[in-house]
Amino acid sequence: MKKLLSVFMLITLLFSLAACGSKSTSGDSGFVGIAMPTKSSERWVSDGQNMKKEFEKLGYKVDLQYAEDVVENQVSQIENMITKGVNVLVIASIDGEALTDVLDKANKQEIKVIAYDRLIKNSKYVSYYATFDNFKVGVQQGSYIEEKLGLKAGKGPFNIELFAGSPDDNNAYFFFDGAMSVLKPYIESGKLVVKSGQNSFDQGATLRWDGAVAQARMDNLLSAHYTSDKVDAVLSPYDGISIGIISSLKGVGYGSAAKPLPIITGQDAELASIKSIINGEQTQTVFKDTRELAKKAVSMADAVLKGKKAEVNDTKTYDNGKKVVPSYLLEPVSVDKTNYESVLVDSGYYKKEELSK
Ligand code: BGC
Repeated sequence: MKKLLSVFMLITLLFSLAACGSKSTSGDSGFVGIAMPTKSSERWVSDGQNMKKEFEKLGYKVDLQYAEDVVENQVSQIENMITKGVNVLVIASIDGEALTDVLDKANKQEIKVIAYDRLIKNSKYVSYYATFDNFKVGVQQGSYIEEKLGLKAGKGPFNIELFAGSPDDNNAYFFFDGAMSVLKPYIESGKLVVKSGQNSFDQGATLRWDGAVAQARMDNLLSAHYTSDKVDAVLSPYDGISIGIISSLKGVGYGSAAKPLPIITGQDAELASIKSIINGEQTQTVFKDTRELAKKAVSMADAVLKGKKAEVNDTKTYDNGKKVVPSYLLEPVSVDKTNYESVLVDSGYYKKEELSK
């Protein structure tokens, strides 16, 4: 009898363990809609996958969608998620000002919203914002140029051209302002010369962060202003833009001993850019660990659904026009040839083999 009882208990235990195991993707905890901007940049692919994995670990069901940088696609994907009955939305917007109506709809269904990486503007219905210190990203890009040109030590004048990100992305202004907080005094003192004269955000903006658009602008800048002079530095806000700028520069003979490539910044530590840094073409990038950002956003969504407060570290910076969205800002890290191994390989973000292929 005793033996029978313990066999019975063992079977019960096994069944409950099995139930626990299947809980991970069962959706018992809730249903999450993740709307990402595009698959054309690696970072968003990793962001989406990392979040999906983390949510599933906690027992959420996940609907993950990419909108290929088309605003209307993103709006209809979110509408679909609302219809499917998600409990919470995590959104990295394409156009931060285009989601007011769809978030009104979400609110009517009591669906909570977390803004991911990019601030969603003009809506009261954004509970939290998970991002990096975006101003600091720009400061790191600007400081890198300052250091490498020796501006602090009084060297110069040097020629520089300035690129900015997409004007519909709130982050783009933070990156540019951060970089200009370092570079502007040198432009004013004449140690940095923008030969094109195009030194405002609007003049340097790159719609949808499109590398081809940046490449075409760089072609024009080079042919109009640098036929008898060389450019020493280019402020680029994002790796995809940097790669476009490098193609343009190489097209007119930069990249040789006689005509070295300028200092070129970037952001996201995308694989192509890390390889370019290793090959001595792009000079710098800013690494933002998407694994950490994903964890943050997942914990915010989980807290909101459980009626708890999420952890934040900034309640002042991100005013979206309707409210100051409580935010958690993670730390960006400046990366170049000297530290890519310790930052990216030792942390397991990339495998050494991936970088040498
Ligand atoms: C992100 C950057 C990214 C850029 C282009 C910005 O909103 O913060 O990490 O480089 O979008 O995708």
